[in-house]
Order: sequence, then structure tokens, then C-alpha cells
Amino acid sequence: MHPLAKLDRKFVWHPFTQMRDWLRREPVVIASGKGAVLRDVRGREYLDANSSIWTNLHGHNHPKINAAISRQLKKIAHSSALGFANEPASLLAEKLVLAAGSKSKAQNPKLAKVFFSDDGSTALEVALKLAYEFSRRTRGKKNHPKFLSLDGAYHGDTVGAVSLGHIDLFHKSFSGLLFKTDKVMSPYCYRCPFNRAKPERDDARNYRKCDWECVGKVEKKFAAQKRKGNPYAAFVFEPLIQGAAGMIPQPDGWLKHVTEIARGHGALLVADEVMTGFGRTNNLFASHKENVRPDFLCLAKGLTGGYLPMAATLTTQKIFDAFLGEYHEFKTFFHGHSYTGNQLGAAASLASLEILLGEKSIQLRKNLEKQSREELKSLWRLPNVGDIRQVGLVAGIELVKNWRTRGSFDLRERAGIRVCEAMAKRGVLTRPVGNVIVLMPPYCTTAEQARKMVSALHGSIQEVLG
Ligand code: PMP
Repeated sequence: MHPLAKLDRKFVWHPFTQMRDWLRREPVVIASGKGAVLRDVRGREYLDANSSIWTNLHGHNHPKINAAISRQLKKIAHSSALGFANEPASLLAEKLVLAAGSKSKAQNPKLAKVFFSDDGSTALEVALKLAYEFSRRTRGKKNHPKFLSLDGAYHGDTVGAVSLGHIDLFHKSFSGLLFKTDKVMSPYCYRCPFNRAKPERDDARNYRKCDWECVGKVEKKFAAQKRKGNPYAAFVFEPLIQGAAGMIPQPDGWLKHVTEIARGHGALLVADEVMTGFGRTNNLFASHKENVRPDFLCLAKGLTGGYLPMAATLTTQKIFDAFLGEYHEFKTFFHGHSYTGNQLGAAASLASLEILLGEKSIQLRKNLEKQSREELKSLWRLPNVGDIRQVGLVAGIELVKNWRTRGSFDLRERAGIRVCEAMAKRGVLTRPVGNVIVLMPPYCTTAEQARKMVSALHGSIQEVLG
């Protein structure tokens, strides 16, 4: 066993990992990367098919981001945002506000202020606390603000973010630690309990037209909460596609409908674009696609291009103003992290944003989306592929016992994990969400690399489940 693998096994505890399984084998130890390729300490190469857990945008070792970090490093790595401003964070805040503004006219709030933090979870924690405090300040201190999020939601692992989540496997064991939030049905067209609106196969004629019953559920939930005399303070959602829920896309128009309902009931909108942001759905931000203008836009993962941990919560002038007052009134937002506004992270983010907005990246994304769509079609032939879901540059392939019955594998069968292990042997690295295999490579992935990813998945499904 490689000495670094031994060290890892001796001392490191990995996230979301059954360490008994981990200790049974030699881990892949990543030593370097270039573009979409990762190289391990033994010199083996792999394609980074999930962009290092959905973070990397433009590829590893990108010369422009490397140069931006080096330039910044010659000046200073970090100074505190508690008490001081700094150049890259100020420049980045302006760029984020400009990028987040959608083209539609301002009937809805405009994002104007940026609160920096460290990770997706903290971006959500910030939005949650701001929405909570804002609601109490506007609706009265006796009011207990209630939050509504989507079934299957995942918004991070800090206690507040977990409270907003609704994945029993991850969240149930902490229930004693959490505050109560409500959940509402989210669309899952492949397993739609009403009419199965989007049939993909030859049994299409058995399905009825979609009547938006899932939107009706949202309407009902808001109305019921209003009748209780305490309308929801905020509605929290991932726009266009729910990631950790299983890469589940929302049908066109769903987001527009439900956010209008939420607004009509006076709820603030919290858009979690930790996964969907920065071009992943082939819109700069997923909420732009349906012209939704949230009161909070939570960003992390791709913010630095996948280089450094940094997050941002964008919000409106109105929310900001509610926290203004004389010092002695203590209306301050009492929240912050040691690395808030980190200078290296902000420098990387500025470079990443510049690349993202450039013509070249826009073209790369278009090509890769098209190429992936073509390649993925070949998987329909496999009886264990139930659904193939793609939104922009995010794809989820749902494995089933048989496509005709749509029967799910019990999680204990580890179908997704076993398929990913077989893919690793073929030189492609990704992680499943349950029985859904995720393909979400960096934007620089070439046509040949995209083909290799899909063919590794094809071969692995046949080997493991065939
Ligand atoms: N929100 C969403 C939609 C996510 O996908 C994730 C992470 N997968 C998070 C929040 C939490 O982000 P982090 O892991 O950076 O805390």
C-alpha cells in the first residue's frame, strides 16, 4: 500500500463515508490534476466526472486562476472582514451583484448586498438567520417565523441547514437537534404519483397530460399555513434541479408558478444555487431561466472555480436596511466567520467569473451540453437504466431493477456505489446519490472525454447489474 494511503487510513475520517468500507481497500490518493483529469500518487489518470463534488468549473490547474491566486499571494493571503475591507472581496461583491441581476424588469427585489462566508452550508445558514430576523422585525417579535422547503431537499450539514433539509437518511438521526420546518411535494416526473407527465419509453400512451398537481400542493400548503395565522416567512428551494435529492429536474414553468404563489403569500424566496449556480444549468444562475428574482441567492462550490472554500449570500437593500440602526439598538447582524471575505478566495473567484462570462466558456458549455445529451442516449438500451435526466451540464442516471417496472434497488444493495467503483477501475471518478449516477464534469471536458465517461458508465452498469 502506498505510504500516503496508509497515512490516510490511519488518521483521516472521510465525509459521508462508511469508514469500515473505506478501511477495507486502498484509497485513491489524488496528487495532481489538469483540465478534467485527476492523477493519483501511482501515476494513474482518471476523469473527474463529478467536478470534485460539483465544485470545479473550468478544469484543474487553470492558468488564469492559478495566476490570479499567485498574484494575490504576493500581496496577502487573508485579512479579516471583521473591521476591515479588502480589494478582491469588494471587487467580487460588485461583480456578483451585476451577474445576479436578471434581464427582467424590477417588479421583484433586486439583489444588492453580498455577505461572504465559507461553504454552501454557511451560505444557507446566513440566509436562514437573515430571513428569520427580518421576519421578526417586520411581523413583530412575538412572531415565530416558519420555513417551507422541498421534499428531498438538501441544503448543507450545519444544524440550521440540516433543519431545512428533508432527506431522512441524512437528517433523521439529528432530529433532536433541529428546529422544525415544513416540507412540500417537489416534482419528480419519473415517479409522478398523479399522471406521469414525462414518459420516455414506448408505454407513453398510458400517461395523462400534466395538470400541475404538484403546484396545487404548494398552493394548498401556503394557504393552510396562512389560515393558522402565521404565513411562511420564507420558501427555500433549489431552482431547476434538486441535486442531492437525486438530480431531479423541475418541469418548465414549475419554479415560476410556485415562487409566484410564495410571493403572493408574503414569503421571502431563498434560492439555493450552491450546485446550480455559475453556468451548471447553462444559465449563469438557474433562477434566471424562469425569471425568478429571489430575496436571497446562496452561492458556494463553483464560486472560486472549485479552488478554495468560499461562499456568498446575496440579498436585497430592503433586508439590509432592516438591520441598520444606532449601535446601542443592537440591530447588527450578529454572524460572521474568521475567513469571511478571504482575499485568496476572492481573487480566485474574480478570475473564475471572468472566464465564465467569456465567449470561450459559453461555447464550451453549449458544446458539452449537446455532446453529453447525444452520448447519454446510448444508455437507454440498458434494462437497468430507468431515467436519464439532464439539465444543462448536470446529468443524473437513475438505476432501477428493470426499466419496465421502475423498481428501485434497496440502498443496502449499494447499486450506485458498486457502479461507481467499477467506473473508477475504468478511469472515471464520480459518486452516486443513492441509485442515481451523477455526471457533471468540468466545462473544459472534451468530446472524447465525455464519450469515455458515458462508455465507462455503460460498461460498469452491464458489469455490475447486467
Ligand atoms: N446546498 C446544495 C444545493 C448543495 O448541493 C450543497 C452541497 N452538496 C450544499 C448546499 C452544502 O454545501 P457545502 O458542502 O459546501 O457546505
